[in-house]
Amino acid sequence: MTDTPRTTEDEELDEMDMEAQRHGVDDRDMQVEVFDAVRGQSRFPVQPVRLTAEDTFSFNCHKGVSCWNKCCHGADITLTPYCILRLSKRLGLKAAEFLLRYTVPDVHDKADMPVAKLKMGGDDGRGACPFNTADGCSVYEDRPATCRYYPLGMVSMKMKDMEGKEDFFFLVKEDHCQGHCETKTQNVGQYRAEQDVADYERVSRGWIDILMKMASWKVLGGPMGKAPTMQVKKMFFMATTDVDGFRRFVLESKFLDAYDVAPEAVEIIKADDEALLLLGYDWLKNILFNEPTIQLKEQVLQQAIAKARSDMGAA
Ligand code: SF4
Ligand code: SF4
Repeated sequence: MTDTPRTTEDEELDEMDMEAQRHGVDDRDMQVEVFDAVRGQSRFPVQPVRLTAEDTFSFNCHKGVSCWNKCCHGADITLTPYCILRLSKRLGLKAAEFLLRYTVPDVHDKADMPVAKLKMGGDDGRGACPFNTADGCSVYEDRPATCRYYPLGMVSMKMKDMEGKEDFFFLVKEDHCQGHCETKTQNVGQYRAEQDVADYERVSRGWIDILMKMASWKVLGGPMGKAPTMQVKKMFFMATTDVDGFRRFVLESKFLDAYDVAPEAVEIIKADDEALLLLGYDWLKNILFNEPTIQLKEQVLQQAIAKARSDMGAA
């Protein structure tokens, strides 16, 4: 450990180490809608039909449809960490600036964790998406995952007795969307490949895992029956939305004194945003669920255990 003065961030770090010590490892049935695909205001247009990658559906979206651009108004779009990364890079903005200009903070209702949603126009949020133009999406190559998936939704699940996680899909039919009347037919796998969603799923998988677990624990009040503190939620939001802020936190607080992060990995996260996001997920999983995704250094661990014992009144 170094002798540099302690900062508020260091105190936050201590508090979160303690949070991790209080929790055990969980293994519950988990399921969460990841990309719910409902982009309008109606909340009940989902056809409750479970689709696999081989299932086919008729759909096509092009400038000739009578509903062109309708779905880009009043859309309910939760941004994944990777969506924010792609969009802020495209716009040449730091993540914090992007968040300020183009998003509104919200709470993922299933997981009860803070997320960022794309800010729609109009006082009531039913206006156009800021990236909508007469010709369509002005950020098309970097559009959010929900926009790519539409009209599909994706659910990720893992049951206690299952080896790995399973994703399945469902079709959303909103009244205004004429794309379903088109003759083009494809299966779910083809549609996902066409929409280029692989990177979005890969880089956001850890975030999805955390939301799933939080959703599974919600009925009990939080992991092991205890809701995360505001501080933990704040750090979750920073680590999953603001890569620049999280990088500063990792490199400039005592994070690297507290956790075992290989020197080569430290060099990588200085420049690689995706790697930093993955480190953030590991850290959050450790804090929230006590998963061994990142290791506290031995000395710090002993201090945390001693403090936990003292807090509990043990000798
Ligand atoms: S990001 Fe693009 S596709 Fe998504 S709602 Fe906005 S304009 Fe439409
Ligand atoms: S067909 Fe559906 S997805 Fe395409 S513009 Fe119309 S409402 Fe939007």
